[in-house]
Amino acid sequence: MAEETIFSKIIRREIPAEILFQDDLVTAFRDIDPKAPTHILIIPNHLIPTANDVKSSDEKALGRMVTVAAKLAAEAGIAEDGYRIIMNCNKHGGQEVFHIHMHLLGGCSLGPMLN
Ligand code: 5GP
Repeated sequence: MAEETIFSKIIRREIPAEILFQDDLVTAFRDIDPKAPTHILIIPNHLIPTANDVKSSDEKALGRMVTVAAKLAAEAGIAEDGYRIIMNCNKHGGQEVFHIHMHLLGGCSLGPMLN
């Protein structure tokens, strides 16, 4: 059984976080160490450690993560100029918290990522 991370405590509101959205499937909150003017994390409410662990039964939550990211980007006023959505996986991907999360980054030009 996978071990809970600090993100489970944020979902249950046991530790402080600036939660921007929460429903039955996902929670979105501001990253504690923002790498762009807008940096929001969107996570499923149930624990999935890495992208490798995603099952077909998780597809509804993962789809909700994308629609919530788009909604929050629109609310932040960054939708038209654009933004980046990233999910890191394991060591080479730079994953530090083992509860999958989508980074929503924007509010400035992020430049090309792969070069
Ligand atoms: P990863 O490297 O796993 O893709 O990203 C983890 C992200 O979680 C980092 O951007 C980090 O700043 C953020 N983070 C880690 N701990 C906390 C926390 O306790 N609260 C919030 N709001 N963000 C966190």
